[in-house]
Amino acid sequence: MIKKQRLGRTGLEVTRLGFGGIPIQRISEEDAVSVVKHVVKQGVNLLDTARGYTNSEERIGKALKDMDEKVYISSKSPDKTAEGLLKHLDIALGLLQVNKIDIYNCHGISSFENYDKVIGPGGALEGLKKARDKGLIDFLGLTSHSLDVLEKVVDDAHFDVIMVCHSFLEPKAEEKVIPTAIEQDLGIMTMKNFSGGVIENASAALKYALSTPEVVLIPGIDSIDQANENWDVFMLPDYTMTEEEIAVMEATKEEYKDKFCRRCDYCQPCPEEIPIQAMMGIRSIIKRMGEGAFDRPWVKAAVEKGRNCTECGECMSRCPYDLPIPELIDANLKWVDSQLTQTEK
Ligand code: SF4
Ligand code: SF4
Repeated sequence: MIKKQRLGRTGLEVTRLGFGGIPIQRISEEDAVSVVKHVVKQGVNLLDTARGYTNSEERIGKALKDMDEKVYISSKSPDKTAEGLLKHLDIALGLLQVNKIDIYNCHGISSFENYDKVIGPGGALEGLKKARDKGLIDFLGLTSHSLDVLEKVVDDAHFDVIMVCHSFLEPKAEEKVIPTAIEQDLGIMTMKNFSGGVIENASAALKYALSTPEVVLIPGIDSIDQANENWDVFMLPDYTMTEEEIAVMEATKEEYKDKFCRRCDYCQPCPEEIPIQAMMGIRSIIKRMGEGAFDRPWVKAAVEKGRNCTECGECMSRCPYDLPIPELIDANLKWVDSQLTQTEK
């Protein structure tokens, strides 16, 4: 039986295993379309994408246009204004080749300043409500890497669905956000179930995330093999980890306890304006984006800023996880340079 989850007050019955549309950017269009078709035929009925994922909306639209299976689509705009969000929504509708998007999200609202913009006059929330009134979307969502912001979002309950980071390396949402979101009857989509590619054991990652009740997962995939691997875990009758998987989980937690960045941004502001969490996660960002990652202006800007680290240590005094930030940024810059050298060869 394919396990479904009522997505909070949306009432949508979605498969607990959804599809994350980031990695299909880095493969050929033909392969991307095949992967999307494959997961939909398998039975996945929730596909997540975003305006910020370059060609992902377009590729999903191409895959779905001649399919009859009923799927729910979630997409996102990072624009904080009503006008900007509605422009992105208009583009998304065209690329996805649909008249309506089921869930449209404010994307990556990870500071209170940005959240205030979103819910303030002329903010993106107004845009979402207008779009819903016009029948262009059904439900309002918000995604964030900050549990503090999400606590407030859940409390305010302007949105029907939230998206939160959740994995065995980042389990905090189980205490801080997920229980209250359930109380408010919000839909809960979880992202970063593999912690941005840090967790390599799919079975351990998915079993852990699927063991949390009421949440829906949207792991990103870029191949049919990955789709099948995830599907096989999802279809297991129960998600008890084997001893070997528990050992892998514990070893991964131990390995990353001093270097895994939770993207909370408590370390900011950096006097050199270094986007610390981007630099801490630059390896997985580049691996996820694949070829062309170095051409993205924001990636280039983050790396260039990262080179200005003076090792002043201000960030470390604010990081609740005591991460040796300058050291990790330096190691990541060395890795970036090695990748750039290989690209030039
Ligand atoms: S140590 Fe580097 S990253 Fe941290 S605050 Fe100082 S300059 Fe910024
Ligand atoms: S370096 Fe520490 S404080 Fe900064 S975003 Fe990562 S976990 Fe949070």
